[in-house]
Parts: sequence; structure tokens; C-alpha cells
Amino acid sequence: MAFADWHADSEIALGGGGAEHAGHDHAVQFYESPEYLSAVVSDFVIDGLARGDSSVIIATGRHAAEFSRALRGKGVDVEAVRKSGRLTLLPASDTLARFMAGTTPDSRAFDRVIGKVIARARRASASGAVRAYGEMVDVLWRVGNREGAITLERLWNDLEHRGAFSLLCAYAMKRFSHADDVDHFRRICDQHSRVMPSENFIMRDEAGRMLEVALLQQRAKALESELAARAALTEELRQTAERERETRGAAERERLEAVRARAEADAARRLAEEANRAKSEFLAVMSHELRTPLNAIGGYTELIELGIHGPVTPEQREALDRVQRSKRLLLGLINQVLNYARIETGAVRYAMADVLLDEVLATCGSIIAPQLRAQGLAYRYGGCDKLLTVRADQEKLEQVIINLLANAVKFTERGGTVSIDVEPSDSSVTIRVRDTGIGIARNRLDVIFDPFVQVDAQYTRTRDGVGLGLAISRDLTTGMGGELTVRSEVGKGSEFSVTLRR
Ligand code: ADP
Repeated sequence: MAFADWHADSEIALGGGGAEHAGHDHAVQFYESPEYLSAVVSDFVIDGLARGDSSVIIATGRHAAEFSRALRGKGVDVEAVRKSGRLTLLPASDTLARFMAGTTPDSRAFDRVIGKVIARARRASASGAVRAYGEMVDVLWRVGNREGAITLERLWNDLEHRGAFSLLCAYAMKRFSHADDVDHFRRICDQHSRVMPSENFIMRDEAGRMLEVALLQQRAKALESELAARAALTEELRQTAERERETRGAAERERLEAVRARAEADAARRLAEEANRAKSEFLAVMSHELRTPLNAIGGYTELIELGIHGPVTPEQREALDRVQRSKRLLLGLINQVLNYARIETGAVRYAMADVLLDEVLATCGSIIAPQLRAQGLAYRYGGCDKLLTVRADQEKLEQVIINLLANAVKFTERGGTVSIDVEPSDSSVTIRVRDTGIGIARNRLDVIFDPFVQVDAQYTRTRDGVGLGLAISRDLTTGMGGELTVRSEVGKGSEFSVTLRR
């Protein structure tokens, strides 16, 4: 079946001619292929010529050429009918430009321009009827000006109602391939008194058309549910993205918080280090400055003792002796503070070497011997392999061991024992300094290595010291790459262990 038959069958023949259709026929033809469009338009014109109607064709350049070719193919002398005024061919874009105001068609300009064309065609019409085919709407639609296209359809409608002509519009079906086009498509259809589906439908027989309708209905349903599923999916994705954004926000906040906390901790640490350095520097300067007048006290006391300023009575000598002892004690304390301050400011250099341990321990034993004797303590050191060495700075190692031995003597009652044991392993050697003294409470074990800490101030005050010996010893041991630890039990005694690499 040809499209013309379908039109005839449906009793909706285009431009029905004469008064019966005049003024109320605004049809729209959807099409798939340009060939079909050419066939429709040429038949539209030929049908008009047969009825004595004039035709106005407003088409794009390419289509106009195809329509003329189709008309010639069907035996129409295109030039002659154009000359007679019964066929007017106008270019779509140029004509459109004559009444567009920006993106909107201007109704007055449209009426004037198109009205004139229709009137001229009517004058050449034998039947008095005019039929028009326009593609200007399609041009607007193609460039995305959908509102403009729908407005133009309305203007055509208005003019057609007033001017009594029949009108055919055509849209390529491919212009409506997007899901969003449903509403626009509907609005276009609503602008027309007749809607003609594309050739896919028209060119079939009745059974084929029914099948096509059924298939279309099914496809529409499927598309509808597909669209609903997509909308649901889009919503789900949106929510997931939202949740992800929130999670990311929380993670980011946490990260920033951690960065801030780290920066604060760094700043606090730097401040503490700075304060510690300032304190150590202060101690170093102070102790150095204290030593000078103290040496002067010692020197002048000695001069008096020597009788340089006259004879000295026995009472005076005893007093001078006390001055000298106090001076020595004070000097010892000041030296300790100076020592500690030096280590803390990092001014101490270590002359590391393989040191013969037995030699070091023997020296320390002889240095501490007078104090052991004075305190009435037994001393045990069984010696060790004469060739056993440790990695250390000999002088500093001696300082550490003497510190530990001096403490052992200080905190052990008369009759007690101080001992040294050596335990070598493959990679290190541990030197244990033990005593049977007063011991240290478990909860104080952690702090005795801190500077200026004395477990029992009252007890220790009777013995000299400022609470720096262990701080210095631990710093020196660490400085030599070793470790100083303690084990102790109150009333039973203490054990300080120095471990050094071999
Ligand atoms: P001090 O100058 O007071 O001896 P240290 O740093 O050498 O300072 O020791 C800190 C404190 O640790 C001492 O005051 C004392 O309370 C405790 N201590 C150190 N060695 C012993 C020990 N062998 N026995 C018991 N207590 C000790």
C-alpha cells in the first residue's frame, strides 16, 4: 500500500481541496527517510494541482531540490507551474530569518511575510484553495530551539484559521530519539489537527499496522519501566555519592584533626626541648661562675692554714679544715651539675674504643675503696676475662661505674656488701653493681633516672648529692650505645646493670 492510499483510506487526504477542508487542516507528517518525505510532499503538490489548488513549499535547499526532482519524476513541469504561480518554492532558512526576533518568531512579521505569500498563491489558484508545506519548524527544532518551533506551529495554526488554507508540516523522526522528547513530541502533535506517523506505520497493510501498534505499545511499556529503573538507579547513585561525600568529609575532618594534634605535639615538644636547653645552658654558666669564687675561698683558706698571715691556733685550724671540706663538697656538687648540663646541651664527645673491662673495674674498685672502708662495707669483685673488651669511652665508663658504686656505698648500712659481677654474651657485656642496702620502692624505680630526683630527701640529705648521678650515668651509657637499668627491693638491696656492646 502506498502512502497516498493510506491517506485516501483514512479519509484524511491532504489538502482535501475546496471549501470542505479549507482553513481547518493542519497536518503533521513524521518520517524516517528523506525519500519518503519527497514522495509525501510531491504527492501533496500533485494532488493539489489535480484539484486546482496552489501550493506553497517552504523547504531547506536540499529538500527543495529533492521535491522538484520527485515532481519531475511524476511528470510535473516544475518550471511551468512555478511560473504560473501555482507552485511557490521558498528557502526555509531565509524565510525564517524574515520574521524571527531573536530566538522567537514574531507574530506580526510572520503574518505579514507568510500572509503575503499565501495571498499571492491564492490569486493563482483555480479552486481558490491554497495548500502549504513548511519545514521552518523542523529547522528550529534541529538547532535545539524547541520553544521557537512550537510557537511557530501556533502561528501557522492561527494564520491557517484566518486565511483558509491547508497546511502540512513534517518532522524527521530521528529528532525525537531522546527520552526527554516525550513531552515536546506530545505538544507538537497537539498543535496539529491531523498526525501522520512515519512510513514504518503507513506503508504497511492493516495486519502489519496492528502488529506495529502492538509492538510500539510493548516497547513504550518496556521503555517506561526502563526509565523508571534508571531513575531509581540514578537516585541510588546520587545517595551513594552523597554518603561517600559525607564519609569523605568525616575522614578528611579526622585527618585534619590528626594533623593539627601532631602539629601541636611537635610545637609542644620543640618548646620543651627549647626550655630544657635553656635550663641546661643556665646550669652550665652558673656552675662555671660558682667555681671561680669557690676556688678563691679554697686558695685563701690554704694560705691562712699555711700561717702566711700569722700563727694559727688549733681551734682556728679545725674551723679552716671544715671550710676546706665544705668547699670540696660544694665543688663536687657544682662539677656534677656542670657535667650534667654539658651532656644535656650535647657538648659531650665520646671517644669510643675497645676498652679492657677488667682494667676499668679494677681502677673503679681502687678509687672507691676508701669510701667502702669508711662505711664499713665488704666489697666483692671476682674479676673477669682480662681480654674482655666493651665498646666505650673509657673515662666515661669509669665515671658511670664510680657513680653506681658511690650510690651503693651511700645507700648501704654499715656491715653490708657491695659487689660487681660481669656477664658477657655474644654481642654485649652486662656489668652489675649490687648492694645489700636500703633498696628503692617499686613506684620510684621509674623516676630515679630523672634529673634532681631523690627518693627520700630526708634520708639522702644526710648524704651528699643533688639527684644527678643517675641522670648523668644513664645519659652517658646511652651516649655510648648502651643501656642502664635497675632492679631493687626495699630493705634488701639494689642492682644497677650497665649493658654495652662488645
Ligand atoms: P644522688 O645525688 O641523690 O645520689 P642519683 O641520681 O645518683 O642522685 O640518685 C637518685 C636517687 O636514687 C638517690 O637520691 C636515691 O634515692 C636513689 N638511689 C640511687 N642509687 C641507690 C642505691 N644503690 N640504693 C638505694 N637508692 C638509690
